[in-house]
Amino acid sequence: MTTQHSFDVVVVGAGIAGLSAANRSAQQGLKVAVLERGQEERYLCNSRYSGGVLHIACHNAKDDPDKLMAVIREATAGKADPALARALATRAGQAIDWLMKEGAKYIRVGNIVWQQHVLAPPRPIVAGLDWKGRGPDVTLRQLVTNLEKRGGSMFRLPALELMEREGQCVGVVAGDAQQRHEFCARAVVLADGGFQGNASLVKQHMGIDLTRVKTRGAGTGVGDGMRMATALGAQMSELNYFYGHMLSRDSFTNDRVWPYPQLDELGTVGMVVNEAGERFVDEGQGGVFVANTIARLANPLSTWAILDQAIWEGPGRSARIPANPQLAQAGGTIIKADTIGELAVKTGITVQGLQNSVDAYNAALSEGQLQTLRPVRTAKPLVPMAIQKAPFYAVPLCAGMTYTFGGILTDENARVASSRGGVVEGLYAVGATTGGLEGGTGGGYVGGLIKGVTFGMLAAEHVAQTLKA
Ligand SMILES: Cc1cc2nc3c(=O)[nH]c(=O)nc-3n(C[C@H](O)[C@H](O)[C@H](O)COP(=O)(O)OP(=O)(O)OC[C@H]3O[C@@H](n4cnc5c(N)ncnc54)[C@H](O)[C@@H]3O)c2cc1C
Repeated sequence: MTTQHSFDVVVVGAGIAGLSAANRSAQQGLKVAVLERGQEERYLCNSRYSGGVLHIACHNAKDDPDKLMAVIREATAGKADPALARALATRAGQAIDWLMKEGAKYIRVGNIVWQQHVLAPPRPIVAGLDWKGRGPDVTLRQLVTNLEKRGGSMFRLPALELMEREGQCVGVVAGDAQQRHEFCARAVVLADGGFQGNASLVKQHMGIDLTRVKTRGAGTGVGDGMRMATALGAQMSELNYFYGHMLSRDSFTNDRVWPYPQLDELGTVGMVVNEAGERFVDEGQGGVFVANTIARLANPLSTWAILDQAIWEGPGRSARIPANPQLAQAGGTIIKADTIGELAVKTGITVQGLQNSVDAYNAALSEGQLQTLRPVRTAKPLVPMAIQKAPFYAVPLCAGMTYTFGGILTDENARVASSRGGVVEGLYAVGATTGGLEGGTGGGYVGGLIKGVTFGMLAAEHVAQTLKA
């Protein structure tokens, strides 16, 4: 049985990106529907799980646009699409104000530049999942209420495929085998959150086995938007890189140790080794790089962060939700020993291998010769510290995948790029389902929430402008 509906705009996915697009559309007088696959009242999505910090590449998203452009370039090693970067840098400030007018509340955390807009109430400084009643959860519910007040409709249905006429997107089919719904629309906005929850797509595009990498999110982004857009000839960006962090390997069996604390501060200031005690990655490239490298090892469950007392008491305590003391309090494994040899014995790491790696690292650091190490060790922007002050620590690691950087390629108005050139008329994509801003291999984190709100807003404004023209 098929039911037909007719709207100006249909949005697929009710995370922060989809709800921003929907509300901004309704605000401009458009008739809007949102399709959301989750059935629970507070359906899970990465937006709801998030830490709620609106920032651009760990800078204040209201900074001067030229400065933000430079920050994005640096964070992504120059791989960000310049048009997308400029759109984000110039409109993020307005997006933050717009979200506040929608009812979102922010707190500012002291002088920490990237935490000037944290959705309130903020999550507490504790390990594990703690999203209920926190800023992102409250904000999503507020956006749903706003949409309903504006006459928008929310359907708890999975989008299945796009409707096409003469190369143009003219709607979405949703539902299941029993009940098929055709949503005819003048514009469709895909906001389904990425493909990190789809093991076969992750294997296909990244060569990564998701059974041995921790899904550090809701797992609700399963690549539906990409699949649907591809069928209409959409162009994809590089799909081979993800945003993530080093996590405790216990996260597979202990839900209290993920998504926080992330262990980047330990591994990127100290050292990361394999079971032979060898370094295999340039830790100075940061947590996203190390997590991507670990995920691609033949055995991604074989690595350890190695550090000393100075790192444990310094950077170990400096993260927003720090490993010290959060990891121990959550029951995460931390091996402690008075010597490196003893540490190796307790962990099962090869004794001589670990001793050699620590000695070589300490010597290169004290002589200012980190570039002679293999793999090379970058010293900036993260400052490496010697591993010399007992007790020594080893923490078993795994890679945690938060969301996929790559996805549907769009222009600066969130219009979906066509692989035949130009755009797919009537089709937009926003949030984590899109690629191009963060870059592929070696790219970097720009900020998922601000990207979602800003491009959600931009898509809606372009749709309204086009439909009213
Ligand atoms: C633990 C954690 C902490 C984070 N902290 C931060 C932070 O502090 N700051 C920051 O900037 N970013 C953070 N992020 C990243 C950020 O949360 C995401 O990048 C962002 O929320 C993505 O928003 P989205 O709307 O694109 O996707 P999502 O929020 O994932 O929403 C997508 C929605 O689409 C729905 N959907 C999927 N397929 C279909 C379909 N076929 N039909 C209908 N609906 C469908 C899903 O059910 C889901 O509800 C964090 C992420 C995690 C997991």
